[in-house]
Amino acid sequence: ADKIRLGIVGYGNLGKGAVKAIKETPDMELVAVFTRREPESLTLNEPSVKAVHISDAINFKDEIDVMLLCGGSATDLPEQTPHFASMFNTVDSFDTHAKIPEFYQSVDEVASKSNTTAIISVGWDPGLFSINRVMADAIIPNGENYTFWGKGLSQGHSDAVRRVNGVKNGVQYTIPSEKAIEKVRSGENPKLETAEKHRRVCYIVAEEGADTAAIENEIKTMPNYFADYETEVNFITDEELQRDHSKAPHGGFVIRGGNTGDNKQIYEFSLKLDSNPEFTASVLVAYARAAHRLSQEKQYGAKTVYDVAPAYISPRSQEDLRRDYL
Ligand code: NAP
Repeated sequence: ADKIRLGIVGYGNLGKGAVKAIKETPDMELVAVFTRREPESLTLNEPSVKAVHISDAINFKDEIDVMLLCGGSATDLPEQTPHFASMFNTVDSFDTHAKIPEFYQSVDEVASKSNTTAIISVGWDPGLFSINRVMADAIIPNGENYTFWGKGLSQGHSDAVRRVNGVKNGVQYTIPSEKAIEKVRSGENPKLETAEKHRRVCYIVAEEGADTAAIENEIKTMPNYFADYETEVNFITDEELQRDHSKAPHGGFVIRGGNTGDNKQIYEFSLKLDSNPEFTASVLVAYARAAHRLSQEKQYGAKTVYDVAPAYISPRSQEDLRRDYL
C-alpha cells in the first residue's frame, strides 16, 4: 500500500518529537516541516527532511495526506487549526480544556465546509486520559472520576508562562499530592478541591530589568492555567534552567472509584513518560492514520478521540487485531 504522507507544522518540542515518531512508522513518510521562521534557520537533525516556510504550505495540497499541527495551544492552534483544516486533514493537540468546545466549533465549521477531517485535542491529556475518563464513567456509573498529573513538566503551562511579558524562559511542574492519590485508591471517593490535588511550581528566567513582581502576579492570576491553583514562582538563572530543568518528563493517573452493588471497583490508567513531547507526538502520528482513513471514508468535519475507533489508529489489519490483541 502507498505510505501516508505527513507534514509537520511548527518545529518546537512537539514538532521535533513528531520527526522521530514518523521514523518509527513504516506506513508513513514525512514530506516537510513547515515553520513561521526562516526555514534555513532550523537545525533539522534529519538530512532527508526539508524545511519550508508556512506560507508555502498551500502548494503541498496534493502532496500531503495529513498535517500534524504542533504549534502551542495558547495562541498558535486557535489560528493554525482552522487555517490548515481549510486545506488539509489535520491532527492537533489543543489542550486548553476550558476552551475545547469553542475550538471544536470553529474547526468543525471550516473542516465540514472544506471536506477535510480534523481530529482535535489529541495526545495524552486531552487524549488517552479523556478516553479513560469516559470508559470508567460509562462502566461504573455509581462512582467518581479523578485525574492527577505529574510530577511533570507541563508543555501547555510552560508555553503559557513563556508568553508572559518579561519572561525570557521558563518551565512549569505539576505535582500531585500523594495523600490525595492514596485516598482515591482506597475507594473512599473523597471530596477534593482543585488545590488539594496538585500544586504548580514555576522556574522563570526573567529578561534583564524585568519587573519580577509583575511577572509573578501575571502568572498566578492567569485564568484556566494558574488562577485556581496554589502556584509557586521561582526566579533562576539561564545556567540553572539549562542544568536542572532541560528534561521533559510527565505522566499521571486517571482513577475511578465506584461500586457495583456491595462490591468496590477501582479503575486505574496511568502513564510514566520520560519525554512528554515525544510521547504526545507519537499519539498524534497514530491518530494521523485515523484522520487519513476517516477522510477516505468521507467522514469530514472536526472529530475528537471519542469519535475514533481504536482500529483506525492501528497499522494492523482488523484480522490481525482480532487474532493477536482481542
Ligand atoms: P513549543 O516548543 O513552545 O513550540 C510551539 C511553537 O513555537 C512551535 O510550533 C514553533 O513554531 C515555535 N517555536 C519553537 N521553538 C522556537 C524557537 N526556538 N524560536 C522561535 N519559535 C519557536 O511547544 P511544544 O512543547 O512543542 O508544545 C506544543 C503544544 O502541544 C503545547 O502548547 C501543548 O498545548 C500541546 N501539548 C498537548 C499535550 C496533550 O496531551 N494533548 C501534551 C503535550 C503538549 P514555528 O516553527 O512556526 O516557529
